[in-house]
Amino acid sequence: MKQRKIPARMCIACREMKAKRELIRVVRTPDGAVVTDATGKLAGRGAYVCNDPACVALAKKQRRFERSFEAADCEAVYLVLAETAQAAADARAQAANGGGDSGQGDNGKSDSRADREQSGGGRGGEPKSAPERERKAYGLLGLAAKKGSVISGGDACERALRGGSDGFLIVAEDASDNTKERFSRIVYGKGVERRIFGTCSELGKHTGKDERSVLIVTDQGIARGLALLMDGVAGENGGGKFGKNQSL
Ligand SMILES: [Zn+2]
Repeated sequence: MKQRKIPARMCIACREMKAKRELIRVVRTPDGAVVTDATGKLAGRGAYVCNDPACVALAKKQRRFERSFEAADCEAVYLVLAETAQAAADARAQAANGGGDSGQGDNGKSDSRADREQSGGGRGGEPKSAPERERKAYGLLGLAAKKGSVISGGDACERALRGGSDGFLIVAEDASDNTKERFSRIVYGKGVERRIFGTCSELGKHTGKDERSVLIVTDQGIARGLALLMDGVAGENGGGKFGKNQSL
């Protein structure tokens, strides 16, 4: 029987072959940096890990990416991978719980307890609350800044976007209408990933600046983690606070 071929790759931790979409790609770029690759298209040597906290933890413990890439230190990559995998696990758990994940009891559903036990097994804890996700998102932003993967300030961000940057655009909730409108025009039709998130003072604080109303995160892996965290917050808040590609 003829079967459609689904591209499969091996997880660096559990060594299972899986469909590419179940894995996170990590790349050693030609200039020697090791980064996560949400697009799956970055040039360089690639290795894969399951989008699962257990495999990420195992890879970190056994320094699998350092070995695979003969790289000195992939600490930042493990951090991003852990965030990404945890967010994916949370999303799966939430989906298994019927999207509720509110912790408000069984609502008369007889098998929801089994669902919870099953989905809670791999996570070992309470689902992350919106404030916790927010805090994690700021932590990732700080990490991106430390790596030099943040473009900040309106003019620099505009130049980058007009120059074809496909980074992850963040506009503060309390940015001026002018700023929101300006970036809405700049990204129009460009398919740039973007979110409304945080406040000018918090965005600035976590990227080592004064107030910042606009940021671009250029590290694809961190950007992916940020999007997942921000969407998680949106899900828990009923989509109000951080809409996905919310119009600016
Ligand atoms: Zn695995």
